[in-house]
Amino acid sequence: MIRAVAVAFLLCLALASPSAGAQFETDTFSTSAGDLTITFIEHATLMIQWGGKAIHVDPLTQYADYSRLPKADLVLITHEHKDHLDAKAVEAIRTDKTAVVLTQACASQVQGGIIMGNGEVRTVEGIRIEAVAAYNLVNMRSPGAPYHPKGQGNGYVLTLGNRRIYVAGDTENTQEVKALKDIDIAFLPMNLPFTMTPAMVADAARAFKPKVLYPYHFGETDTSTLADLLKDTPEVEVRIRKMK
Ligand code: ZN
Ligand code: ZN
Repeated sequence: MIRAVAVAFLLCLALASPSAGAQFETDTFSTSAGDLTITFIEHATLMIQWGGKAIHVDPLTQYADYSRLPKADLVLITHEHKDHLDAKAVEAIRTDKTAVVLTQACASQVQGGIIMGNGEVRTVEGIRIEAVAAYNLVNMRSPGAPYHPKGQGNGYVLTLGNRRIYVAGDTENTQEVKALKDIDIAFLPMNLPFTMTPAMVADAARAFKPKVLYPYHFGETDTSTLADLLKDTPEVEVRIRKMK
């Protein structure tokens, strides 16, 4: 009995711990080179584990206690906005072996990174990385001034074994996004007014047909609208996770 109480107490402690890695949802996919596990942290922040490597995408200290998560082999930063770039988080997960891939505008806040421009392809830590332009077409801060001007932000396509995963960053349904090929897993942003409406996400998805589509960084946007818009596109499986 005492033992049961003690176990229950420990369980409560574990559940109450606000930043334990176990609090996050994960999905696992098989690849030709072992499992790929995605940890859904929050907003635009993800962790991808594959081949013994931990890849942190847009890590933010406000969403995770990085002292409890694996150190990064690779960090990907999509752009310099503060909901994507947090130099403290990069510091918390970086070792002297960590590669940090980022944009020019991020480089003043994070030293020693590898700057990738739109359209550039590199192999880093044995992983092929393609930088995809991320920008607004219609959503503007003021007339002529997009929230995300073309040329500044990146999305990234990673090839992990035989799987290709695309994390879009902050973008709209641009020609670069719609021209993507052979994407197994895609993360597309859906928060307004900064990125895409559900209709824009659906338009992009119908064009490049990711096998699994996660809307992410969706703020107050109703994710069921996207699922409805894509209900006649069965080749794209929409999965909703807690990525507000
Ligand atoms: Zn942004
Ligand atoms: Zn953002």
